[in-house]
Amino acid sequence: MSRGKKLYEGKAKILYEGPEPGTLIQHFKDDATAFNAKKKATLEGKGVLNNRISEHVMGHLTRMGIPNHFIKRLNMREQLVHQVEIIPLEVVIRNVAAGSIAKRFGLDEGEELPRTIVEFYYKDDALDDPMVSEDHITAFGWASHGELDEMVAMSLRVNDICSGLFAAVGIRLIDFKLEFGRQFDEDQLTRVILADEISPDNCRLWDMATNEKMDKDRFRRDLGNVTEAYAEVARRLGIMKENQVLTDTNEAGK
Ligand code: UDP
Repeated sequence: MSRGKKLYEGKAKILYEGPEPGTLIQHFKDDATAFNAKKKATLEGKGVLNNRISEHVMGHLTRMGIPNHFIKRLNMREQLVHQVEIIPLEVVIRNVAAGSIAKRFGLDEGEELPRTIVEFYYKDDALDDPMVSEDHITAFGWASHGELDEMVAMSLRVNDICSGLFAAVGIRLIDFKLEFGRQFDEDQLTRVILADEISPDNCRLWDMATNEKMDKDRFRRDLGNVTEAYAEVARRLGIMKENQVLTDTNEAGK
């Protein structure tokens, strides 16, 4: 599969031109960043695990009728995706208090929220991704009212589906972040689809029995065993066998 020129390099992923118009290749790096890239590290094998976990979750969402950019995995680090125009918002869905919401409102981490809460952040590193209201989003034209409604409806469905997917393997989905994009058809009509990735890099995942963290908080909070925790998520989801190690050269894992 031919890989075109590099279009964008982010903190954890690179996007290349895809083999056909309207497609991109999404490459998962081992780089980890937190606190708006103030903390950085390379975690060997993380990209391989996130590629596989995101493939698994996006594939499941496709089967459940959630339109998303995932087409197919190409190799250990890359997947073919539909090209979209990214909507400059991070949509955070929360079931349980943790991270910034716990801090902001003085809640105990692990406290069940009265109901699922959806928040929006404007994607801008220079501004530190500020939290924004629906009125900011439509007034500044980041998304239309219709797009916003679609994003919220899709986010809540993704939450239900993923909460079930993870609960079935003993993992609690505490919160997660989604990104959406506009996909254009030949007539330039657009539809909003889910983009980016769904992995322990952008979800909080706690072991149901022990509350042990199995996500990027292990890196943010220096808890150690980061990739080991990601590998355990992959193992529970049935992506990896008990003693298997996923590496770039492990053809069996292709
Ligand atoms: N999140 C993310 N990217 C960001 C900010 C947050 O993927 O730039 C995810 C994070 O992993 C968590 C959820 O969104 O699952 C909520 O994060 P929170 O607002 O609590 O921020 P944090 O405590 O991570 O700074």
